[in-house]
Amino acid sequence: MKLDLNIQPLESWIKTGKEPLVIAGPCSAETEEQLVATAHLLAATGKISALRAGIWKPRTRPGEFEGIGSIGLEWLKRAKDETGLPTAVEVATAKHVEEALKAGVDILWVGARSTANPFTVQEIADALKGVDVPVMVKNPVNPDLSLWIGALERINNAGITKLAAIHRGFSSYEKSAFRNEPMWDIAIHLKTLAPHLPMINDPSHITGNRSLIGYVSQKALDLDMQGLMIESHIDPSVAWTDAAQQVTPAALVEIIDHLTLRKPEV
Ligand code: PEP
Ligand code: MN
Repeated sequence: MKLDLNIQPLESWIKTGKEPLVIAGPCSAETEEQLVATAHLLAATGKISALRAGIWKPRTRPGEFEGIGSIGLEWLKRAKDETGLPTAVEVATAKHVEEALKAGVDILWVGARSTANPFTVQEIADALKGVDVPVMVKNPVNPDLSLWIGALERINNAGITKLAAIHRGFSSYEKSAFRNEPMWDIAIHLKTLAPHLPMINDPSHITGNRSLIGYVSQKALDLDMQGLMIESHIDPSVAWTDAAQQVTPAALVEIIDHLTLRKPEV
């Protein structure tokens, strides 16, 4: 069985000439200075295809930082104007979609907690009708391939053809070295069902630990995933969210430079 998804190639919406394709930026936009300074350092590496930053953060437990909100859209715009990097942001409601599009965000993504909820995904899909914007769909927090596929189908049915999946690992009650179990088989299964669907790996949320990011990134490239989304912060030690997994732009360059790309089969 193959999935009936109408997909445009990754090259149609993001610069893939840089090998490997890397989307990077802080877990959360915290202040204008933090976001813009991080964006400048990332752009200066010449290795980044888009800037990511969360401004609406669905947190598992209450009482934690839930994102800076809409003001972050202005900071993203400034970061883009000054660096030329296209921007990517997580959306979890129709209002987020409308605001992000109005502010000129280039790429949207659906977070793992949202993918687990079909009503939320449908609300996002409805807000995307008639819009031509790239959308990346993270796997759901739970290891349920059907929910992931269902979310991709809902967004695709709304007319979004610039579509990609993001593999960010799955919650597990078992303790392991990873924050979220990669369960590579699930991602591979999706790749076999939808060979033309670009898949981007998110080693930051899989590992929860910056020392393992290179290892997981290499594994993803060895499995022919088309890109990486890696959290990068100008000073991870003081990050408001996901401090243990963020890397400085300089450390990101080290990681990227140590990756080996799979040679095309002859
Ligand atoms: C994020 O990208 O910062 C994030 C919240 O990710 P996820 O939805 O994968 O937990
Ligand atoms: Mn994060």
